[in-house]
Amino acid sequence: MADLHSIPLPSYPAGSHNFLKRLRRDGPGSNAVVNGDLKPEGLDIAIVGAGVGGLAAAIALKREGFKVTVYENAPALSEIGAGIQVPPNSARLLHSWGLEASLSKHSVKPKGLLWRRWQDGREIGHARLNPQFSKWFGAPYYVIHRAHLHDILHQRARELGVDVVLNCKVVEYDPDKPAFTTGTGSTVTADLIIGADGENLGLRSVARRALLGNKYTGPVSCGLAAYRATVKREEMEADPDTAWVAESNSLNLWVGDNTHAMTYCIAGGRLFNMVLTHPETKSPETWDQTNALSEMKAVYAGWDPSLRKLLDMVSGTQKWPIQSVEIPSSWTSDSGRLALLGDAAHAMLPNMALGAAMAVEDAATLAACLKAYPRKETLRPALDIYEKLRIPRTRAIQEASVLHGYTLHYPDGPLQEARDAAMKPEVEGEHFIESPNQWSDPATQLFCYDYDPISEVDNEVRHLKSNGSPTHENHG
Ligand SMILES: Cc1cc2nc3c(=O)[nH]c(=O)nc-3n(C[C@H](O)[C@H](O)[C@H](O)COP(=O)(O)OP(=O)(O)OC[C@H]3O[C@@H](n4cnc5c(N)ncnc54)[C@H](O)[C@@H]3O)c2cc1C
Repeated sequence: MADLHSIPLPSYPAGSHNFLKRLRRDGPGSNAVVNGDLKPEGLDIAIVGAGVGGLAAAIALKREGFKVTVYENAPALSEIGAGIQVPPNSARLLHSWGLEASLSKHSVKPKGLLWRRWQDGREIGHARLNPQFSKWFGAPYYVIHRAHLHDILHQRARELGVDVVLNCKVVEYDPDKPAFTTGTGSTVTADLIIGADGENLGLRSVARRALLGNKYTGPVSCGLAAYRATVKREEMEADPDTAWVAESNSLNLWVGDNTHAMTYCIAGGRLFNMVLTHPETKSPETWDQTNALSEMKAVYAGWDPSLRKLLDMVSGTQKWPIQSVEIPSSWTSDSGRLALLGDAAHAMLPNMALGAAMAVEDAATLAACLKAYPRKETLRPALDIYEKLRIPRTRAIQEASVLHGYTLHYPDGPLQEARDAAMKPEVEGEHFIESPNQWSDPATQLFCYDYDPISEVDNEVRHLKSNGSPTHENHG
């Protein structure tokens, strides 16, 4: 019988050979090469930032036996914002890190993601998510409270023996040594430093700036902002105009002219989460958050009465900028001792709900690279593979997020009518082979959700080995 790993796979977009990819991923002897020929030498890794990206990296790296310490600016660990979608490409990795039970306990597995017309809530698009996604992509599509996801990751990191140092603001890096200096003047050195310090309005990534120098560019606005709010589900159930939304067990997404409302239940179904995206041209520094609630209601005046009733139930909201960064063509320092991960490298528009999922994929990729090349003198090849895989992947997902924004936001007219007509087969339960809805378009689904970082690293390592890479021969 042919060797599973030697059968060629198509370089053209196709689903025909995915059964082989999954056998390589999940079958006997999977990940054999990533186990590596090199013996680990106890690399000491410092991660800056305890967001989803930093904590995911801590878990993935600690599981491979490295010494890991996380340094976080905040005095206590918590996540602001309300809900977050965890798609199966991320969920599959989180499951493999021992988090399936805790994710299932705290999250909701929605049946579908329904697009609704802004004016009357009529269903115009329909992605089937659960239980189908587990069968198609090996894990469910979860929605969860951010605080719960953060807590689950933090607990797991602590369980594995990761040290998390709070109240520690990193102000400067020396990428060559490598080292960083904190706000209190102390210096921390490590074999490898991971900058997972996000790229937010309040806290710009110091690691990104240190790495890119005069090529540094901060976040770019796309002319949109989002109100984030939650409502108690029991309150919704008491009103017939909103009870159907609470009971639908799906994400409901109202779409209109340059504006949309993404909604779903979180906290095991007890809370209802809303992300309300709308045009905003003023700079975030000038926003007056005390007006956010009344502004939010004004934006959606004239929309579906059920949505407006939901907004009337909101007692407080906060407005968030919707921003992205230009993804740099290098994520690592020349010394090979400082690397970016998560939003610090690739903050993107949330139109595909894949930003944090990319950070989780980064973490798994980095850990697999270092598993294959686990020594101080092999950091360069490890980080070369990390960059080679992560830069094109995150650029493509960033592009998908931008393009989906156009599709979500057509004003009423010929384009909107053509889009809605193209989604009709999925709404009517017919077989379809393409859809403007990227959550259900089969080609986009495979690209986004079937991606497996470990197999990707495995392929690269096999390729290097078959070319007689000196790194393998000299240190085996
Ligand atoms: C409206 C909206 C909705 C979204 N929805 C989704 C979704 O449904 N699914 C999804 O996958 N993604 C979603 N995203 C994207 C997701 O939130 C981000 O991609 C993700 O949170 C990035 O995680 P991170 O760990 O890289 O960065 P961050 O979450 O920004 O974490 C960075 C951490 O570093 C710390 N830090 C910063 N500077 C320093 C310093 N100098 N010293 C020490 N510590 C520091 C910060 O305090 C923070 O804890 C959404 C984004 C937005 C705006």
